[in-house]
Amino acid sequence: MRTIVLLGSTGSIGTQTLDVIATRRDQFKVTGLSASGSNLEVLARQIVDFRPETVALAKASAARDLQHALYAEADRRGWNQGEYQLPRLILGPDASTELAGSKADVVVNAITGAAGLRPTLAALAAGSTLALANKESLVIGGRLVTQAAAPGQIVAVDSEHSAFAQALRSGRSDEVRRLILTASGGPFRGRTRDELTDVTPQQAMAHPTWDMGRVITINSATLVNKGLELIEAALLYGVGYDDIVVTVHPQSIVHSMVEFHDGSTMAQASPPDMRLPIGIALTWPERLADAAAPCDWSAPAAWTFEPLDAETFPAVEIARRAGRAGGTAPAVYNAANESCVDAFWSGAIGFLDITRIVGDCVEEHLADGHVADDALSLDAVLAADAWGRERAAELAAAR
Ligand code: NDP
Repeated sequence: MRTIVLLGSTGSIGTQTLDVIATRRDQFKVTGLSASGSNLEVLARQIVDFRPETVALAKASAARDLQHALYAEADRRGWNQGEYQLPRLILGPDASTELAGSKADVVVNAITGAAGLRPTLAALAAGSTLALANKESLVIGGRLVTQAAAPGQIVAVDSEHSAFAQALRSGRSDEVRRLILTASGGPFRGRTRDELTDVTPQQAMAHPTWDMGRVITINSATLVNKGLELIEAALLYGVGYDDIVVTVHPQSIVHSMVEFHDGSTMAQASPPDMRLPIGIALTWPERLADAAAPCDWSAPAAWTFEPLDAETFPAVEIARRAGRAGGTAPAVYNAANESCVDAFWSGAIGFLDITRIVGDCVEEHLADGHVADDALSLDAVLAADAWGRERAAELAAAR
């Protein structure tokens, strides 16, 4: 029986993680759940279903509403008071970090954005295996995170990085030549920059193959997500930025590939369903039986690959530059983007402004204020994160 702490339980990855666990209660026990506090009915349902000992809530003011939602959920199920126990509540902005630091076999970090950094560090310090969906924490923390992790302590939930981990088992690390990171291309694949000037958040949310949370869906449309994944891959697998290529594969069946030095390429293929990489992350290095449906070979299928249009979608090359510079540059890339996603969502800036502003912020930061890897500290990362948000907001306001 593995004990699981799930951070960000009410989101897309969080709910799918609980789907995986729901039918395997003999293998997993959920000991802690966390959320920000904006989906209390969902959280209450999860608490009643999975009976965690501890629940962490970022918005302390939502505690009373959560209690009401819990009573309502119990009432809906026809339970009397006394038939269930309220979990221990941890409240406030550091609640997920405290929960992450309480030892579990696996801590799943499925929080969105830079808010996941402290929980990631806390889970690693506690010695738990970290099933990492929150790529932002690794990207912005960089060496702080990789140096805090024991070998194998971080297991990627991202389907691409799960694919790398699976394919890397085919050879030794000194036999690896390149990582081939696949991208669906998002909803705007094939369009020119001119055609992207007026696209709306709703159009950007219409991802062709994956159903995900808001930030990652917008990031998939701009390809910023692929930029984050590029840095994530370099940090997780120790491969240089010159040796990671991105290829566009619209069907999202091949989740990424590893090329070995004899010319062989190993691909991991499965229909787009996050329950597979979530499942393997919960049980790594073993596989979880029947985590998701396999490919259907009885019907015709075509898998295509095309180069990335880097002119229309500059996000990956901006990330490559930030990743190569290391230190605080990836934190600025991510922070400026998170700020721009909010600005785009509220209609303050256009779609193309997102990568323009992110690129400008990274360049400004590299020219002045950049802290290199060897001097990196948590304070430096948090300062770069704050600066990136502020500068991006200023540039957005000036558009
Ligand atoms: P969602 O927006 O769907 O969910 C985010 C979750 O994080 C919610 O439970 C939210 O709680 C919680 N949360 C937000 N801020 C805080 C905070 N400060 N403290 C505690 N909890 C918080 O995101 P996704 O599930 O789509 O993505 C989560 C992570 O996984 C991201 O890093 C993303 O890049 C990555 N990922 C996602 C994939 C997907 O298919 N969705 C695929 C691969 C990676 P509340 O509901 O209360 O607001």
